[in-house]
Amino acid sequence: MKSSRIKRIAHITIGVSDLKKAVSFFEDVLGLGKMGEWPNYAIFDIAGVSFGLEPRAKLEICLLVDDVDEAYRSLKEKEVKFVTEPKDQPWGVRDATFVDADGNKFVIESFQCKVCGKICQSYPELLKEHLRKHK
Ligand SMILES: [Zn+2]
Repeated sequence: MKSSRIKRIAHITIGVSDLKKAVSFFEDVLGLGKMGEWPNYAIFDIAGVSFGLEPRAKLEICLLVDDVDEAYRSLKEKEVKFVTEPKDQPWGVRDATFVDADGNKFVIESFQCKVCGKICQSYPELLKEHLRKHK
């Protein structure tokens, strides 16, 4: 059986009602390392898996692939229901979103540097080794 070459869970985003309260819970109570915080998003690192909090979002599981377009085509052939097409995001990743039969949201994403073409294995790697260095 042809695989869509999903390598691992790259990150998980959960919905929260109060971002500040949630950040304080995950940072101060659970002791997770915070990688960044913005007015509408905060991101933590749990042993290489990024864990994001977003107000009013639904749970999203992001799966790492090397080539989003190839995985998209391969899953689409198997009639997987996509809700967004492959797209380059302003924060540097390329992704596409699909839902399973129960409406759970999954994102396939890749961390390929647009400047040198290197495929990174994590967003921190893309951010630190490429996006910030190429500027
Ligand atoms: Zn690069």
